[in-house]
Amino acid sequence: MKKIKHAGRTVLALCSALALLAGCGKTAATNSGSGSMNTTSSSAGTLTALDSAAVNPSSGSDTSGTESTASAAGSTGSSKNESPDSSAAPAADPTPAPESPAAPSEDPAGIDFVSTETSLYTYEQMMTDLSEMAAAYPDLLTVRSCGTSLDGREIPEAILGNPESAHHILIQASIHAREYINTLVAMEQIEYFLHHHADGMYADASYDQLLSSVCFHILPMSNPDGVSISQFGPDAIENEDLRAGLSDILQNDLNGGRTSGGDSYWTRWKANARGVDLNRNFDAGWDMYEGVPYPSSDHYKGTSPASEPETQAILNAADSCNAMITISYHSMGGVIYWDYGSSGEVYDKDYALMSLVSVMTGYAGSSSVQSSQDAAGCSDYFVLVRGVPSVTIENGYSECPIGIGEYPSIWSANAELLPALAFAYKNG
Ligand SMILES: [Zn+2]
Repeated sequence: MKKIKHAGRTVLALCSALALLAGCGKTAATNSGSGSMNTTSSSAGTLTALDSAAVNPSSGSDTSGTESTASAAGSTGSSKNESPDSSAAPAADPTPAPESPAAPSEDPAGIDFVSTETSLYTYEQMMTDLSEMAAAYPDLLTVRSCGTSLDGREIPEAILGNPESAHHILIQASIHAREYINTLVAMEQIEYFLHHHADGMYADASYDQLLSSVCFHILPMSNPDGVSISQFGPDAIENEDLRAGLSDILQNDLNGGRTSGGDSYWTRWKANARGVDLNRNFDAGWDMYEGVPYPSSDHYKGTSPASEPETQAILNAADSCNAMITISYHSMGGVIYWDYGSSGEVYDKDYALMSLVSVMTGYAGSSSVQSSQDAAGCSDYFVLVRGVPSVTIENGYSECPIGIGEYPSIWSANAELLPALAFAYKNG
């Protein structure tokens, strides 16, 4: 086993985490004056600017590439939450130097259970890998079901670390079906932490120490039916009524001019198996959200807040652990949404979380405030209703579903995020 050393970024994130969590974060945030949108034009401020310079001193002005790439790519999306806010400048240096990025032909995490040969990482493979990892590391990982999808798939919650800890962190991925590249990210984050538990170090803390101090609750695939539809089409759904419903939904979207049909209708699917966009199904601005008024591949909020079992599964996971922060993985754009119109202490803490994630991933922070086109999301809910700092990470830059060719760079951005979060929140 090789010793994990991450000198540059470790020092960087250590400084950031300690200072930001001590309350330094908000000072650099600016208010646009519009009353509806804060920007993060200098968001991470002096602290992260200095830290970033230490890591990548030549890249201080190299922000336009990421921003313009993100904006251009984001223009294909129809939802603000999938499209970077072009008014928001990067929170921090967007391109910290990756550490020895793996060749694309290799497993970026360099380890054993989770294969990154294809982006078509299935629900069944995930379940197998989780079982095998839990069997190999019974003291560090347990897996439970936190709910069941409409089509009968158990929604796994991987519990990594010390369940008796007072510090619980919830991470959920692939609530939007076609964004399933993030299941691979979450699974490899679990594997990476486990594989290096005995030899990994983050700042002055060993991975073992970190795993005894915090507990991660990771839902690698919050929307397993939707992911299966995006990967294999409607025939992936076993329930006949649901399959018939999917035909009706396609017909409605054809009639409504929302699609011209074809295979891409299914590969680009975002919703669950009855056409509810789960990230518009949370009880935070749900009444305000408009979207489309009928089940669809995306942007239909359902008949009531938390009407869907997959939404309830996420709430179940959060309730059972009393999560102190939450992370939602989406794609694409290379941006971190935060804020959601919060204020006071939760705003400050959300800023600190966003800043840490920005430093680690190299993605810019973008303040997001709810509107009729953009509400009722998972992160919105935890910030605004629960007062739990939460961010949405939009991984990658190409159109979803993102291919495996982009995976090494996505992995590089996220490889050390869990140890960094554990270090930052191990004392509360
Ligand atoms: Zn999404």
